Amino acid sequence: MAYSFNYDLTKLPRGFFKDIALLVEKRQLHKKLGAFSKQSVRKFRVDQLLGIQLEDAISIVEDLVDLQIKNLVHEERFRNAQEKILLVPHCCRKYMDWRCKADFDTKFASYFCNHCSEDCMAHHATMLAEARDYKVFILPGGSCLKKICEQLHCDAVSGIACPEEIKLGIGVAESSGMAVRGIPLTKNGCANTQFNIDTLREALI
Ligand code: SF4
Repeated sequence: MAYSFNYDLTKLPRGFFKDIALLVEKRQLHKKLGAFSKQSVRKFRVDQLLGIQLEDAISIVEDLVDLQIKNLVHEERFRNAQEKILLVPHCCRKYMDWRCKADFDTKFASYFCNHCSEDCMAHHATMLAEARDYKVFILPGGSCLKKICEQLHCDAVSGIACPEEIKLGIGVAESSGMAVRGIPLTKNGCANTQFNIDTLREALI
């Protein structure tokens, strides 16, 4: 039944939503909402639209819910952090062969973009993040995060990846005491992966 009154949730402070996210995470309520995720997947035919198995579609939706909760829980600490880094997956580079002019630094197991192509997603991510004083690493895999953390002081890490990989990265970041923020890939795979530039822009707080 619809409410018999009007409301505008934008009048509520951000802390209100953060409190809800904290409570949900603390009590792991979202895990108990598996039925809700299943219903949503069925309702929006997520599996059919994406051309994947029902169980895989449910996993993606559950991971996306987890990710949004984590982003909210960490938001304040992330915003106030001094040294922030952005991890970009190397598979979103325009070229993954000799045509990519990025430098590879074995110290961090990371590429560093040299901006050879205006229409490269890694180039856009690098430009956006560096303009906001982030250090940017273009990585072959999330496992490289540990290596970076060992060699660099930073108190907040944001990363673009598929929800499954972000989940692993959040675990590493939290165990190192860092604030964390995830930006999900909108298209995964081994090459030509994509993310939403506006989502990244909003995430780089
Ligand atoms: S713009 Fe950067 S990351 Fe993209 S292909 Fe060129 S050097 Fe590589």
